[in-house]
Amino acid sequence: MRWSQWYIPTLKEAPGDAEVVSHKLMVRAGMIRKLTSGVYSWLPLGMKTLQKITQIVREEMNRAGAQEILMPAVQPADLWRESGRWAHYGKELLRFKDRHDRDYCYGPTHEEVVTDLVRGEVRSYRQLPLCLYQIQWKFRDEVRPRFGLMRGREFLMKDAYSFDRDREGADRSYDAMYEAYKRIFSRLGLQFRPVQADTGSIGGSSSHEFMVLAETGEDTIAYCKSCDWSANIEQAEIKASKPVSSSCPENEEVSTPGMHTIDEVSSFLKCPPEKMIKTLLYVADGKPVAALVRGDREVNEIKLKNFLHAETDVVLALPEQVEAWTGAAVGFAGPVGLSAAVRIVADNELLADTGYVAGANKTDTHLLNVDPRRDAPSSEYGDIRNITQNDVCPVCGGSVGMAKGIEVGHIFKLGTKYSKAMNAVFLDENGKEQVMIMGCYGIGVSRVVAACIEQNFDHDGILFPPQAAPFDVHVICLDPKDEAVLRKTEAVESYLLNSGLDPLIDDREERPGVKFKDADLIGIPMQIIIGGKGLSKGVIEVKNRKTGEKETLSAETFAPAFEEWKNRVRKSWKIR
Ligand code: ATP
Ligand code: MG
Repeated sequence: MRWSQWYIPTLKEAPGDAEVVSHKLMVRAGMIRKLTSGVYSWLPLGMKTLQKITQIVREEMNRAGAQEILMPAVQPADLWRESGRWAHYGKELLRFKDRHDRDYCYGPTHEEVVTDLVRGEVRSYRQLPLCLYQIQWKFRDEVRPRFGLMRGREFLMKDAYSFDRDREGADRSYDAMYEAYKRIFSRLGLQFRPVQADTGSIGGSSSHEFMVLAETGEDTIAYCKSCDWSANIEQAEIKASKPVSSSCPENEEVSTPGMHTIDEVSSFLKCPPEKMIKTLLYVADGKPVAALVRGDREVNEIKLKNFLHAETDVVLALPEQVEAWTGAAVGFAGPVGLSAAVRIVADNELLADTGYVAGANKTDTHLLNVDPRRDAPSSEYGDIRNITQNDVCPVCGGSVGMAKGIEVGHIFKLGTKYSKAMNAVFLDENGKEQVMIMGCYGIGVSRVVAACIEQNFDHDGILFPPQAAPFDVHVICLDPKDEAVLRKTEAVESYLLNSGLDPLIDDREERPGVKFKDADLIGIPMQIIIGGKGLSKGVIEVKNRKTGEKETLSAETFAPAFEEWKNRVRKSWKIR
C-alpha cells in the first residue's frame, strides 16, 4: 500500500475532548473520526486494525465450534416484550417507530433475536448443542459516552449464543468460550485477567469478565494476592465477619448543627468513621430503601439491587423523599426511628461492632451508642458494600489487591431466562419437552482496539503489537524522486509481499522528519528506512518501534538480514 494514495490524515494535535491516550492517538493517527457523541467513522488505517482483530476473534470462535451468522440491527419491540426487557432495559435502548407506528429498537445485544431464530426450528435434542455468533455494530445510548471507542454509543461487538440440552452441556459451552476468549486476548498480546462478574441486565446465574489491565480502565478489579480469585468490584464477595456479642449503653442524642457528612460529624464528635453508620436512602422498584454501611465504606448499588431482587437499578432518593421518610433535613438519616415504610438493609459488617454514631432522623442531631441489632431490629443484613484492600479473599483468606481494568469481554450462563420467557423448547430422548439452556458471550471488538493502545504506547505514539497492527512493516522511502532509492524501495516491497508480509510504503514527498514522526505515531512494529545516503554506503536502516533500537542491514544481502532482525522484533513482543 502506498501512503501517497491512501487516506491517512495524521494530526499534530489531539482533539480537545480526548481524555485517554487511545482516543488521542487514534484520532491523531488518522484511524478514526468522530461523527457525533460516541459515534465514530473508521478510516482505512483504523479499519485495517479492526479487521485484523476481528479476524482473530473469528478464527477462535470457529475453532471453538461456533457458527457465524448475521442478525438484523433493527429489532421489533414485540420480541423484547416477550422477554420482558422492553419495560426494564432503560434509556440505553434506542427506541423508535416505523411509519406504521410500530415500536422498534436498535440492537444493544441480541438474546431475543437469536432465541427467536432458534425456537421452532430446533426441535430435537439431536440438533443441540448449538452455538451461533455474529460480529456486528450495536447501539447503546450510554449516559456518558467517553474515552472515544472505550465507551461509545455505537460499537462493534462479537456476540455468541449457545443452546444446550442440559446444565452440563451448558457448562461445557461456557468453558469452551472461556478458553476461546483466553486464546483471543493472548494472541493479541494483551495483559488480561478473567474476573467474576455481575450478570447485569442480561441476567443469568454466573459470569466472567475479561479485563485488560490498564490505568484508564473504568472497572476496578479485586484480586487475591495468594490464590487465583479475582472479581469485578461490582460483584466481589465479602465474607461476613463474626458478629460481636457485647452490647452498648442506651442511645443518646447529641447536637450536630449543620454537620451533614461523615467527615464533618467524625471530626466534630471526634469519632472515627468506622464507628459511624452511613445511611443512604434509595428508591428500588418505586419503594424506599435505606442502605446502611460503616462510615468508611461505600454502598455497592449493584449488590444492593441484587439483594433486593430489584427489577430496575436502585437510585438515590431525592432530597424531598429523604425529608419525607426521615422527618429531617438531608444528612441526618439513620436506622433508628425511620418511617416504617422504609425497608432497611444493613451491611453484614455492622454486626461486627456496636456503639455506633448514626443520624437521629432529626435535623442537626445524631445518636450515640447505636446497636443496629437492638435499635433497628427490622433490618435485614447482607453483603452490600464495596470490597477494600483491608478485606480478605473470600476463597482463601489471603490479602486483597486492587487494579484497574478495561472490560473487553463478558461471558454469561443465562440458564433459561430467555428460552423460558420465549418458549425455546426441544424434545429430549424420551420425547419430553424441555427448555433449552442458554449462554451468551460478548467481546467489544472496537473497544479491544482501544485497549490494545492503552497497553502499548509511548510519548511518540502507538506501539502496535504485531498481531493487531494495521500493517506488518512500515517502509519509509526518504527520497522518492531518487531513482536508485525508489528502485530499492520497490525491490524491498516485492520481497516483503512475496514473503507474505503486508507493507505500508511511505512514498510521500515530505521531509524525513515528518515521515519519521508519522511512522512513530501510527506505530507499525517494524520500520525500514531507505535513503540515498544509506544506499551509497550499501546499507538500509531498520527500527524496532517498540524498543526504539535502530540497526543497519546490508542492502545487498537484505533478505536474510531482515529475516533475522524480524525474528528479534517478534521476540521483543514475546512472539515465538
Ligand atoms: P460495561 O460494563 O462496560 O457497560 P456491559 O457489561 O454493559 O459493559 P456487555 O453487555 O457485557 O457490556 O457487552 C459485551 C461487551 O461489549 C463488553 O464486554 C464490552 O467489551 C463491550 N461494550 C459494552 N458497552 C460498550 C460501549 N459502550 N462501548 C464499547 N464497547 C462496549
Ligand atoms: Mg458486562
